[in-house]
Amino acid sequence: MNKCKILLLYTGGTIGMIEDPETGALLAFDFDHLYEQIPELARIDAQLEAVSLDEPIDSSDMSPAIWKRIANQIFESYNDYQGFVILHGSDTMAYTASALSFMLQGLKKPVILTGSQLPIGTIRTDGKENLITALEIAATSNKEGVPLIQEVAIYFEYTLYRGNRTTKVSANAFEAFQSPNYPLLAEAGITIQYNFNALFTSDYKDLHLNTTMDERVALLKIFPGFSPTVYRELFDPSKVKAIVLETFGSGNAPRDERLYKLIEEYVKNDGIVINVTQCFSGSVDQGKYANSTMFNHLGVISGRDITTEAAITKIMYLLGNSNSISAVKEDFRKNIVGEIS
Ligand code: ASP
Repeated sequence: MNKCKILLLYTGGTIGMIEDPETGALLAFDFDHLYEQIPELARIDAQLEAVSLDEPIDSSDMSPAIWKRIANQIFESYNDYQGFVILHGSDTMAYTASALSFMLQGLKKPVILTGSQLPIGTIRTDGKENLITALEIAATSNKEGVPLIQEVAIYFEYTLYRGNRTTKVSANAFEAFQSPNYPLLAEAGITIQYNFNALFTSDYKDLHLNTTMDERVALLKIFPGFSPTVYRELFDPSKVKAIVLETFGSGNAPRDERLYKLIEEYVKNDGIVINVTQCFSGSVDQGKYANSTMFNHLGVISGRDITTEAAITKIMYLLGNSNSISAVKEDFRKNIVGEIS
C-alpha cells in the first residue's frame, strides 16, 4: 500500500538547531540530514518530504511576507500531500497559526505547526516527540480516507490545539502553549484521543488563498496611569487603520475624557478599534460595567474571547482584502475559522 505523503516545512526556531560540539552555540541543521538526526522518522507510516526556508529564522523575525510564502507553498502543493507540518519557533507560532488560518480557508487537510523548547539534537529534547506525533496526526485519516484534522493546529507537549486559539504561556516550560477559550483538539497518551466535537470543518468546497495583509495596525495595552495624550499620534487613521486595545477584565478602561475623545475622533474618521481582554481567559463583555459602556457608544468592536494574536492577524487579513471599512467591521464580528465564540 502507498504511504501517504506529508510535506514538512522548516522555517527555523530552536527545534531545527543542533549544538556545535566545539563552541556549544546553536546552529540550524541541514534538513537534508533529517533522517540522520531523527532515525525514528523512518518508522512513521508516511512518506516525508522536507523543504526549508532559504534562511531559517528565529521566529521573532517572522513577518506577513513569510506567512505569505508559507501559505503559497501549501496552496501550490496542496494536492500532492495528505498533510503539512511546519517546524517553527515557538515565540510567534500562535501568530503564524492564526495568520495561516485566515490565509488558507477551506482546508480539508491538516496544517500542523510544531517546534520545541530544546533543540532536537539535545538529549532531553521535547522536539522529537513533538515532531513525530505532529507527523502522525497529519497522516491520520478516518476509514474513508478523509484527513481527521482539517484546520491549522499547533501540536506541543502531547496536546493538539486550534492554532488561532492558542497563546504562548511559558518561555521555558515544555508546556509552552495553551488554548484558554477553546477545548483541546486532541491529547496524545498511549493513543491519540481526538476531541471530535471540537474539530473544525469548513463550508468551503475548495481551498481559498488570500495572502494580502495590511500591516497598518497597532496594539495598545491599557494600564493604570495610562496617559492617552502620549498615544495621540497613534490615533491617526491615515497612518493606522486599526488599533487592537488590550483592556482590563471584561473589556474595561479608565473613564478618561481624553481617551474618549481620541477614540471618538479616530472612529469618526474610519479608524477601527477592537477591544480584547488582557486576561488570559474569558471574554470581553462591553457594557457589563460602566467603564466599558463608553466603548459601545463609540462603535468600538468587541473582540469577545478572541486572542490578541488572532485579533491582530484577523484585522490585518480583513483590511488587506476589503476597501470597505463597514464590511471589515462587520466581518471582524463574524466567526471566520473558529477563532471567536
Ligand atoms: N526564539 C525561538 C524562536 O521562536 C524559540 C523557539 O524556537 O522556541 O524561534
